[in-house]
Amino acid sequence: MEEGRVAMTEQRASYSGLVSFMRQPMAEGAADFSGCDVVVAGVPFDVATTNRPGARFGPRAIRDESLQLAWGPIWPWGFDPFERLKVVDAGDIAFDWGRPQEMAENLAAHTARVLAANAVPLTLGGDHYCTLPVLRAVHAHHGPVALVHFDAHRDVEEGAGQGRIDHGIVFSEALQEGLLREEACVQIGIRTTYPGEVGAGMTVIDAAACHAMSARQIAAKVREVVGNHPVYLTFDIDCLDPAFAPGTGTPVPGGLSTHQARAILWELAGLNFTGFDVMEVSPPYDPAGATALAGAMLAVDFCCLLAAGNETLQA
Ligand code: MN
Ligand code: MN
Repeated sequence: MEEGRVAMTEQRASYSGLVSFMRQPMAEGAADFSGCDVVVAGVPFDVATTNRPGARFGPRAIRDESLQLAWGPIWPWGFDPFERLKVVDAGDIAFDWGRPQEMAENLAAHTARVLAANAVPLTLGGDHYCTLPVLRAVHAHHGPVALVHFDAHRDVEEGAGQGRIDHGIVFSEALQEGLLREEACVQIGIRTTYPGEVGAGMTVIDAAACHAMSARQIAAKVREVVGNHPVYLTFDIDCLDPAFAPGTGTPVPGGLSTHQARAILWELAGLNFTGFDVMEVSPPYDPAGATALAGAMLAVDFCCLLAAGNETLQA
């Protein structure tokens, strides 16, 4: 081979080979995650959606799109988080599709094993109901947590505690179960109305406010609300405008751009993160793959947030 030429056998083409999140090692069926910093899991579940389904295909699509991001330092962080962190891909949560409640049990049990190993769960949905079992496990490990919640919807419908499996009720259930510190919860990008009283103590930075504020201003508000509490970050991809993320179950016009959302994340290094998720990517409505790619990019930014520790991004 010519001197100085890169051996392409050392770096797979993005369209080649088996698929895992960011080409990280698979740990499917593992029960012990000791030594891991981040454990990725997919949840192929979409029976809790109120509109068009398809998020069961989200985890596979996010992994697939992640491959074209998996080749070195991440802009603008300037480092490769997968050199700093041990990340494994635990595959998808298994459950009987005829017993949807089994998903919640199995996902909570998996997340508990991740937390017991002092690793951080990174969950790829699946519809937003999948966040509830994760929060149950996070609460069992950390107690009530703060919440950074990106979404077009507040997901605080009335009727919690009645056993309904509905992605619109996930944070009402979480509040009722005492999983969250209500006053330390912030919801970003909201552009739907909720007439009820549930979650009245949460801070809402609605879409109009997001468009009037800089990412730095939004992040400063998030830090003020969250404080030093352990915090869980959940990203419903429909927070993004349908122009950037058409592939989702309940799209609402007027949302954030992919850049706006990323730029907010870039300012959140140093928070006491207990877990992350990307939910509601629905590939059947995602003709160009942009939604799954955005989901993959955000998941990589989460890894960068952990890898950065208290380093501030010099963007
Ligand atoms: Mn949601
Ligand atoms: Mn939503």
